[in-house]
Amino acid sequence: AVCAPLPVLGRDVRVPLVTGGEVDYAALDYAASAPALQRVWDDVAAYAPYYGSVHRGAGYLSQLSTDLFENSRRTIAEFLGCRADEQVVFTRSTTDSLNLLAAVLPQDTRVFVFETEHHASLLPWEQRADLTVTYLNAPRTPAQAVATLEQALADREPYGPALVCVTGASNVTGELWPVRELAAAAHAHGARIVLDAAQLAPHHPVDLAELDVDWIAFSGHKLYAPFGAGVLAGRADWLQAAEPYLAGGGASRKVSRRTDGGVDVEWHTTAARHEAGSPNVIGAYAIASACKALTEAGFDSLVAREQELITRVREGLAEVPEVRVLSLFGDDAPRVGVLSFVVDGWNSSHFAAALSAEYGIGVRDGLFCAHPLVRTLLGTDPQDPGECGAPEAAPGELSLNAIRVSFGAGTPDEHVDRFLRAVKELVTNGARWNYRTVDGR
Ligand code: PMP
Repeated sequence: AVCAPLPVLGRDVRVPLVTGGEVDYAALDYAASAPALQRVWDDVAAYAPYYGSVHRGAGYLSQLSTDLFENSRRTIAEFLGCRADEQVVFTRSTTDSLNLLAAVLPQDTRVFVFETEHHASLLPWEQRADLTVTYLNAPRTPAQAVATLEQALADREPYGPALVCVTGASNVTGELWPVRELAAAAHAHGARIVLDAAQLAPHHPVDLAELDVDWIAFSGHKLYAPFGAGVLAGRADWLQAAEPYLAGGGASRKVSRRTDGGVDVEWHTTAARHEAGSPNVIGAYAIASACKALTEAGFDSLVAREQELITRVREGLAEVPEVRVLSLFGDDAPRVGVLSFVVDGWNSSHFAAALSAEYGIGVRDGLFCAHPLVRTLLGTDPQDPGECGAPEAAPGELSLNAIRVSFGAGTPDEHVDRFLRAVKELVTNGARWNYRTVDGR
């Protein structure tokens, strides 16, 4: 069954148009940040008067906040299908989660990552000089992704710790990656695997045990809970063997002066080990609330509705010959509601500016923090500075950046229809305004 869009904040926001008048804002940039579910906002508002310190007070509100924080951890563990001995660590975001994992990897871990990753999963590993990173070439089919990884793992020295980092759904093409198969390949070669689920978790039920991944990272603000929190969940052993990510109160169980004048610290061996400082209880509670809301609404029916919208967008864009949709795995690849494209003869930034100014539609333009992938898809020089100051593409030439439209549980049909109408009108009639003058490009 297909369900109705879930109520989200921001549906009443009205924006002015350069053509005069105003219109309700069409948020079609869920992949960057999704609006809060009304249910999440209501839960947070109901809790706000009871806000208190977590793990740091004897009073009623402090105890209540501590319970709420720890119960949120349990709700999220359940939502993710965590196994009994796994931990849910609260972080600021996916970026923070993956940097935390990079910080706790054993000495000299070999890391394997596709060049197609978001910068958050591409870049944290080289921050540590002892890690060796192998960048894998962009595959053109899911099967090729598995074969590429297997080959790289087979070629490595068959000893020492190894980690594979892979995204579940691309933030550029929306295409799903073969996570279960990649996890099986990693484990068959003695490596572990972390799933960057920043784009997958908001659009698809995720089950750690079923996918057999070792860790998962995601952000609250893409999962309809924009209150500054993220999660790293999974195996406890490497997390607990390493020094804390942040040192301070909350992470330390016992601190004492040594006779030689120094200090001895005993660190916690729970998730708290990496959560020093007063935690973001609202952010954690909001993520748990979003997990509950998605489960209660019936995640499968939300997915079914999103798939209908994807088909509508893809079919609508296919009617415009000037539009080229970017894809790594081809038309038949399963995907989530994230899609990037370029328009023949247009600078993508100007096209996105026109969608905003003339139609009240918010999309994203650029290289989407995945520069190597977008440049592979556009066929442009990977060294080119591209993102800002991309020149106007001549007719028949491609823009050096792209436009991304993305949607999810709160998107009404009208936003998608307005977007398709806008694309057709802009391509046919041109823009009403010269957007080059707006930012000097
Ligand atoms: N990974 C992917 C696939 C993403 O799409 C994003 C956000 N665009 C991130 C990681 C980083 O998420 P955050 O900015 O919340 O840290």
